[in-house]
Amino acid sequence: MGKPTGFIEYDRIPSPVRDPLTRTRDWNEYSLPMPVVDLQIQAARCMDCGVPFCHTGEEIKNGVSGCPLHNLIPEWNDAVYRGEWREALDLLLKTNNFPEFTGRVCPAPCEGSCTVAISEPAVGIKSIEKAIIDRGFEEGWIQAQAPQKRTGKRIAIIGSGPAGLACADQLNKAAHNVTVFEKSDRIGGLLMYGIPTMKLEKDSINRRVNLMAEEGVEFVTNIEAGKDIPMAQLKAEYDSVVLATGAGNARDVKLPGRDAKGIHFAVDYLTQSIKDNLDNGGVQTLSAEGKNVIVIGGGDTGADCVATALRQGAKSIYQFGLRDKLPDLRAIQNPWPQYPKVFQMDYAHSEAEAVYGADPRQYLVNSTEFIKNEKGELTGLRTIDVDHVDAERNLVEVPNSEKIWDAEIVLIAIGFAGATPSIFKDFKVAKTNRHTIEAAKGFYRTDVEGIFACGDARYGQSLVVTAINEGREAAREVDFYLMGETFLP
Ligand SMILES: Cc1cc2nc3c(=O)[nH]c(=O)nc-3n(C[C@H](O)[C@H](O)[C@H](O)COP(=O)(O)OP(=O)(O)OC[C@H]3O[C@@H](n4cnc5c(N)ncnc54)[C@H](O)[C@@H]3O)c2cc1C
Ligand code: SF4
Repeated sequence: MGKPTGFIEYDRIPSPVRDPLTRTRDWNEYSLPMPVVDLQIQAARCMDCGVPFCHTGEEIKNGVSGCPLHNLIPEWNDAVYRGEWREALDLLLKTNNFPEFTGRVCPAPCEGSCTVAISEPAVGIKSIEKAIIDRGFEEGWIQAQAPQKRTGKRIAIIGSGPAGLACADQLNKAAHNVTVFEKSDRIGGLLMYGIPTMKLEKDSINRRVNLMAEEGVEFVTNIEAGKDIPMAQLKAEYDSVVLATGAGNARDVKLPGRDAKGIHFAVDYLTQSIKDNLDNGGVQTLSAEGKNVIVIGGGDTGADCVATALRQGAKSIYQFGLRDKLPDLRAIQNPWPQYPKVFQMDYAHSEAEAVYGADPRQYLVNSTEFIKNEKGELTGLRTIDVDHVDAERNLVEVPNSEKIWDAEIVLIAIGFAGATPSIFKDFKVAKTNRHTIEAAKGFYRTDVEGIFACGDARYGQSLVVTAINEGREAAREVDFYLMGETFLP
């Protein structure tokens, strides 16, 4: 433990960010590095509580509590406090293949279950994680380490999101020959095409992919496995196949007027914007410039749409959610160490407030109709307010609360209903009643011999950190299946 009295002496220092107004004028990352002295003060706040819930990664009441990767948080906090950055990096890389991603995009369930957070703001764990890995790259400590010998076993990983990449990284470390197939034109899954650039700059994904390629992982893009390479060919050419194909089945809003021009799924809209930034000199081909934008869905993906539409110069932006505003402090039924369900200003909401003078979120609003003109173009959205009627939080419509909102663009961000249906057809694997691939947690085996599944395709829509964990655990099972033993963690 670095400093026994650190948690008494020091306050939490929030992770530094760029000014909300100025950063909406570009697509660069909104977070800033934290000065080393502040990082050491933050690390000193770790009380080395003895039973650190921050690294448990347990599910409590449908929410993850603590780090799903079981990152060795108190240990690396201690190393950072002592200025032993290399030691901190070695500890971090024991459990997390890609801290440069989680240190930027993770909602940090670790912090919600930090023991200091029982009475004070949590230790700034995520800022420290980001600083450790960024320093590792800056110092040149992260170098390609290809295995000396290969086992001769061949594994095909289908899908290159965080689950597929983590699985590939681990299996490559176990000296197998790994090929990652990706149907898109770039590697990274939702890290590349989904999470906006201002949250995660795409160079950091390319840097990791190049490193893995140098270590021997083969990457093949623009190939849809199951179609361009049929399952029979994959089974014949590889000793094992891992499906890490994500939860690509976006939920729709089936309302009158759904065919109006101007309604898009959030992921399609975000992907187009990222592609335009990467390939089109930033010229936005699906632009909200000068338009009234409504995002249906109160979650993080909706927030990413808000931040993107802002940068494109939208005239107005609203984000509608069916739920009530969260409380400022934990409710009695949401105690520590559960994931805290409390009100937060996401980066996008601070930006919208800076640009339009108000938080764009509207709570307890239900959409009822898309309104279009004679050319079939979207012109508005009809809504009605809803309210809770009972302790089960069932919703009823509030009489006389109908409204019509101007909208030339509506973005649907209400989540995903499991894996893309074609996966079940192409790979003949069993499906759960949640439309995910059937493969038990901890085993990751599907009902088809030699085919494994992990990440959002198996678990359902989740987080980058959960996907990395699934990829790591599935790799261990594949290694065991192929070798009869495994040394992977
Ligand atoms: C817009 C958005 C923002 C998000 N932001 C965050 C965030 O800030 N923090 C966070 O923790 N989580 C976030 N998430 C969730 C997180 O991105 C996912 O949980 C995570 O990426 C899942 O990883 P995965 O590897 O299982 O799947 P994915 O990342 O979905 O990757 C699956 C890949 O498989 C490919 N694929 C599918 N079928 C085939 C096939 N037949 N052949 C070849 N390739 C195929 C797909 O093209 C895709 O690239 C966000 C999600 C969305 C949609
Ligand atoms: S990966 Fe996420 S949960 Fe784990 S230590 Fe980092 S920020 Fe916390």
